[in-house]
Amino acid sequence: MVDIIIGIFIFMYGIVIGSFLNVCILRIPAHESLSKKRSHCMSCGYQLKWYDLFPLFSYLFLGGKCRKCGAHISKQYPIIEAINGVMYVIIVMVNGYNYESVIYCLLFSALLTLSVIDFRTYEIPIGINIFILVLGVIMTIIDYKHWYEHIIGFFAISIFIYIIYYVSDGKAFGGGDVKLMAVAGLVVGWKIVILSFFIGCIVGSIIHVIRMRLSDEGSMLAMGPYLSIGLTIGILFGNSILNWYLSYIM
Ligand SMILES: [Zn+2]
Repeated sequence: MVDIIIGIFIFMYGIVIGSFLNVCILRIPAHESLSKKRSHCMSCGYQLKWYDLFPLFSYLFLGGKCRKCGAHISKQYPIIEAINGVMYVIIVMVNGYNYESVIYCLLFSALLTLSVIDFRTYEIPIGINIFILVLGVIMTIIDYKHWYEHIIGFFAISIFIYIIYYVSDGKAFGGGDVKLMAVAGLVVGWKIVILSFFIGCIVGSIIHVIRMRLSDEGSMLAMGPYLSIGLTIGILFGNSILNWYLSYIM
């Protein structure tokens, strides 16, 4: 019973952060301030009142339409909020009530935001990578007994894809991907970052082949979303996968 109440609380917390992520997704690529001016309707400019700003619930209550002009509100808002809320609950359920879970939740939010931005603009904003770097430093301090695993994690994949980036002239991986795998490696440590990278590449190549079959999209590929999927699976199940694998080969 207590777990359910805590779960609901974590979900609410997740959708509130999720609505901030929506602001980031819109404003970071446009270089707009994240704090000033309140949200408004994209078609009539109606300034949202406080009771229009409940994440997820306002959208459901208004039926996805603006209160004033009836214009459709992008489905992106409730989807990002719901994903963030559900994932916070899953991360805490899998990982327990501890500091690591808080860091992982924040890491997931950063990955979700950069995935949408990278998907649209082929660019991972430097500010998000700096945010993940800060999480990595905090994680290394919290987990000081294994500090070297985090430092090795910083270099484990980033050096490898920096070489590919350099040799391929930025066609296979972008500079943002290199930085992402460095700072994310600092958060999760070298074992999980290597595993996450391979999962991300496998998921990426499968989805990319399907997308190329379905439409005649070019070969331009934003890697951020796939690396993020890999990292998310890594922080949730990485240790279980590695333990299973090690017991299997030994
Ligand atoms: Zn409107």
